[in-house]
Amino acid sequence: MLADRRTLTQFLIEERRRHPAASGQLNALILNVALACRVIARRVAHGALEGVLGTAATTNVQGETQAKLDVLANEIFLRTSEWGGVVAGMVSEEMEEPYAIPDHYPRGKYLLVFDPLDGSSNIDVNVSVGSIFSILRSPHPGEAADPSQFLQPGVEQVCAGYAIYGPSTMLVLTVGTGVYGFTLEPEIGEFILTHPSIRIAPETHEFAINASNVRFWEPAVKRYVDECLAGRAGPRGKDFNMRWIASLVCETHRILMRGGVFLYPRDSKEPAKPGRLRLLYEANPVAFIVEQAGGAATNGYQPIREVVPASLHQRIGFIFGSRDEVERIVRYHRDHNERPYDAALFGQRGLFRGTA
Ligand code: MN
Ligand code: MN
Repeated sequence: MLADRRTLTQFLIEERRRHPAASGQLNALILNVALACRVIARRVAHGALEGVLGTAATTNVQGETQAKLDVLANEIFLRTSEWGGVVAGMVSEEMEEPYAIPDHYPRGKYLLVFDPLDGSSNIDVNVSVGSIFSILRSPHPGEAADPSQFLQPGVEQVCAGYAIYGPSTMLVLTVGTGVYGFTLEPEIGEFILTHPSIRIAPETHEFAINASNVRFWEPAVKRYVDECLAGRAGPRGKDFNMRWIASLVCETHRILMRGGVFLYPRDSKEPAKPGRLRLLYEANPVAFIVEQAGGAATNGYQPIREVVPASLHQRIGFIFGSRDEVERIVRYHRDHNERPYDAALFGQRGLFRGTA
């Protein structure tokens, strides 16, 4: 089986050979993260047998109830990555402040940013979950990182990836040379390259949005969804399918595999939270992967990766996927800055009540 396939380790070493300036530290860090993902995959797979389902009696920094596996997965990421001398600091969705690397370990030149368990509300219903990570350069290699050093725009990422714990476990990553997917061979415990050079189809007829928020949407989003729902008879002239898994990793993976567009836009539901997803742990790494696969990622007004983070746990509206659709949605955002959305003007009534 290994004769004609490459392991993650071989892939990373060969990539590094092609880029002589690349650091061995980066490969070491990616392999540490891959180990964390393998360990989490085992815990997830054992489910109720190991008593890891259900909620922990704690809330995270965002005031959300933590699943037991949120806490466990966070610990696993910290333990597998703190010792290697390759990170100067780590920050996660589950920790208010950056993690301080213990004094007896050397500090390296990278910052590791992660969502240890994405979609954890899916755990108890046995639907796929994942982990998301992003790697930045430390502005002061070898020194302990302070919180402000993590506030780099997504264009500064040197690597981003996710693991998906589904029917098979996969690791999908980019180091800025395209997107590569590895499938975990569970018997030998190796990630094997199975999806070289993943590309997102530019066109699609599939969109994903939480339609229960329709009454909070901005005009551009209402228009886009109305037009999709109008199908063949509407301005798009084709029928669309809708999907919603409520796990960013799963939505991302589906879009990488067969195209589509995902929207969790800024809305008026909680004005204090402009969007639902986290810029550092979710939107930036997914945006890097999606762009490397030929897709696009925006908050509707600006490419995600150009947004300069103001705080570690900042949330943002997030729209990504097939390039043509994302460009259309950006255009609608621009249009409806100047003129309000009037469904009748676009040849239809609003299909959801309250949108007309
Ligand atoms: Mn998440
Ligand atoms: Mn999470």
